Amino acid sequence: MALLQAPLPASCDVVVVGGGASGASIAYQLAKRGVDVLLLEATVLARGASGRNGGLVDAALDPASPLMEFYLRASASFAALAEELETDIEYVQDGSLQILLDSDIDIEETHADFRAHLDRGYPVRWCDRDEVLAMSKLFPENVIGGWLRYEDGQVNPLLLTYALAEAAARRGAKVRQHTPARGLVVSGERVTAVQTDAGDVTCEQVVVAIEPWSRPFLAALGLDVPVTPQRGQIFVTEPLPPLMTIACLYGNSPNPYIYWRQTRHGSLTIGGCRTVDTHGDWLLGSPGPANSLDIQKMILETIVKVHPGIADVSLIRWWAGVMGFTPDRLPILGRTERYPNLVSAFGFCPNGILCAPLTGRVIADVVTGAEAEVTLEPYRLERFAATKRRRAS
Ligand SMILES: Cc1cc2nc3c(=O)[nH]c(=O)nc-3n(C[C@H](O)[C@H](O)[C@H](O)COP(=O)(O)OP(=O)(O)OC[C@H]3O[C@@H](n4cnc5c(N)ncnc54)[C@H](O)[C@@H]3O)c2cc1C
Repeated sequence: MALLQAPLPASCDVVVVGGGASGASIAYQLAKRGVDVLLLEATVLARGASGRNGGLVDAALDPASPLMEFYLRASASFAALAEELETDIEYVQDGSLQILLDSDIDIEETHADFRAHLDRGYPVRWCDRDEVLAMSKLFPENVIGGWLRYEDGQVNPLLLTYALAEAAARRGAKVRQHTPARGLVVSGERVTAVQTDAGDVTCEQVVVAIEPWSRPFLAALGLDVPVTPQRGQIFVTEPLPPLMTIACLYGNSPNPYIYWRQTRHGSLTIGGCRTVDTHGDWLLGSPGPANSLDIQKMILETIVKVHPGIADVSLIRWWAGVMGFTPDRLPILGRTERYPNLVSAFGFCPNGILCAPLTGRVIADVVTGAEAEVTLEPYRLERFAATKRRRAS
């Protein structure tokens, strides 16, 4: 995106607040439908979790969750989106593999998870030891098999976010970085404008796509949004020769688990142990959330257990990022009851990249009054009782 940007418009149809993969995808889908849309990003695109994640397009979840349909549909959208965007987003659909070692204490749990997905007809199959060993020479001798999600994929999330924003701009969206939304102007039950340092932008509708920042942002309107910040951490190795095409996971949530993949330029990107990471609201004010040594140590000890052969490779980068978690692990999507022209798109927990293509389409459905292609009923903000009745004072 251009470093120097045009002035802010005084008005538009829809303001999308938040330039991560979700906001960029929403702006893109709205622009495609001819909506006059403005995307506001406080810093630079993908500065939040969208530029700091593992890039797995992994649809594994509690198979009974209503989100499963959303995940599978979102995952299935990537190939067409990758074609459509006119930018190489490094999407590959080589599956993801949850591996088991003979020493693991969660063998039963992993098998049970696998069977639950299989019984519901999800795209999974079991790989025996030999098949796993053939997938990468990095797997250790004591691997006993793996649970393959063969429709999963990988994407470069930074490229995805920029490609979406650029495609939105090509279709007429105005994209403005370094432009935080400072607040919303409300008249009765309507949001009438978004406040910025360069003045107010009046609009017909506002979409808020700012993950955990949505909580303080919407509190000013009397909305109690139960989205809490959760830190995730990543390591990147030096570029290595081709070692694997599949994305991998090891360990079973809620126990510490890790995930990794080899990116196109050869680095292994390794993350995880989120479930044992501490977090706090201080993360929201941090321009680049810090790593923590205990989690870094845990991730590295675990990857060397699974891939002893990489114990001596150099690490070239590491970082942390912040996700927005809801109490029931479902996102918050759709219109708010209190302010019907205010639309929520946050609370993606650990899978907002996977969701992004579909998030864009369903939120564009909501904004344009079309019937959403999946039911959004489970994702209403009002499922949390506190949000129903509290009024702004
Ligand atoms: C370490 C880590 C690993 C992960 N791995 C995966 C993975 O492998 N697969 C997967 O699917 N997901 C993964 N995730 C989760 C995924 O990254 C997020 O769910 C997703 O990026 C959320 O995208 P978003 O656009 O909704 O939010 P974000 O990317 O957080 O974007 C929100 C944006 O809003 C901006 N903003 C905040 N306040 C304002 C304001 N007032 N005005 C304007 N802009 C504002 C922020 O600067 C930010 O750019 C991971 C996350 C982390 C941290």
